[in-house]
Amino acid sequence: MTITIKGLTKSFDDTPVLRGIDLTVRDGELLALLGPSGSGKTTLLRIIAGLEWPDAGQLVVAGEDWLALSAQQRRIGFVFQHYALFPHMTVRDNIAFGLSVRPRAARPGNAEIAQTVDELLNLLQIEHLADRHPAQLSGGQRQRVALGRALAIRPSVLLLDEPFGALDAAIRRDLRRWLREVHEKTGSTTIFVTHDQEEAFELADRVVVMGDGEILQIGTADDLYDAPACPFVARFMGAVV
Ligand code: ADP
Repeated sequence: MTITIKGLTKSFDDTPVLRGIDLTVRDGELLALLGPSGSGKTTLLRIIAGLEWPDAGQLVVAGEDWLALSAQQRRIGFVFQHYALFPHMTVRDNIAFGLSVRPRAARPGNAEIAQTVDELLNLLQIEHLADRHPAQLSGGQRQRVALGRALAIRPSVLLLDEPFGALDAAIRRDLRRWLREVHEKTGSTTIFVTHDQEEAFELADRVVVMGDGEILQIGTADDLYDAPACPFVARFMGAVV
């Protein structure tokens, strides 16, 4: 699904947090939103998810005006930094959860739900964990389950907010590689928020650099390194190398 954002603004208590965002996310693209803390990345993601409303601007997804749709109607897969898994449910039930709570008319039958969950367990390489509870999993395994739950509804758009932020460096590297593989198999349009430049460059097709509520530059890793659009981007790239 192509996402087209035009002139999006948002203030909290008269403080501008997004100052006019123009962005097109291509169908099937894995896009990273990269920038320092407080630059507005999460707010932009939450507006796309329908968890927050902009003050002005347009948000069109696959030709449809998303600002006229509720969060439920948008069919978003969302993965947060802190895994919101249900502790009393097994891995299998956590992944099935999103499907079983859909409105009656849109709810698949039990056999179909079981099949979808089996496919996801296989895709995410966690079949051996299917009957465990979240407390019996490592942090990295929990994030795989969280992604499984987000993918179960076959989301039109997948949004990830610092999904690996709480994990240690070696596990983050593994999960990055693996997320890239999953992305290639599902082909969902995906937006990934991070303040980690290495993570953005390794994962994303294109990187959007944000600073103080604005998009400073959009490009591939090479574009950003070779021709930073402004001193802020140059400093930000250099600061983390
Ligand atoms: P980032 O994800 O880049 O760290 P955020 O979008 O979370 O940035 O936040 C951008 C700015 O908006 C921050 O200064 C933050 O304090 C402020 N902000 C975010 N959400 C709210 C809110 N619900 N109420 C008030 N201020 C908020």
